[in-house]
Amino acid sequence: MYVVCKNHVERAIDRFVEEFEDAPDIVDLKETEFSDWDPPATCVECGEKAEFLVV
Ligand SMILES: [Zn+2]
Repeated sequence: MYVVCKNHVERAIDRFVEEFEDAPDIVDLKETEFSDWDPPATCVECGEKAEFLVV
């Protein structure tokens, strides 16, 4: 799973496919609330505000 800003979604998808050999789901953090989990606030690539989960 990768948490990324919108600039790094494509890179995260590429990594996911390389690692898991399967297409990920993209989750928009703005439109999703997690009842028992707080997603990281920042992109793993650049430290900007996280906007998407690639899972
Ligand atoms: Zn980023």
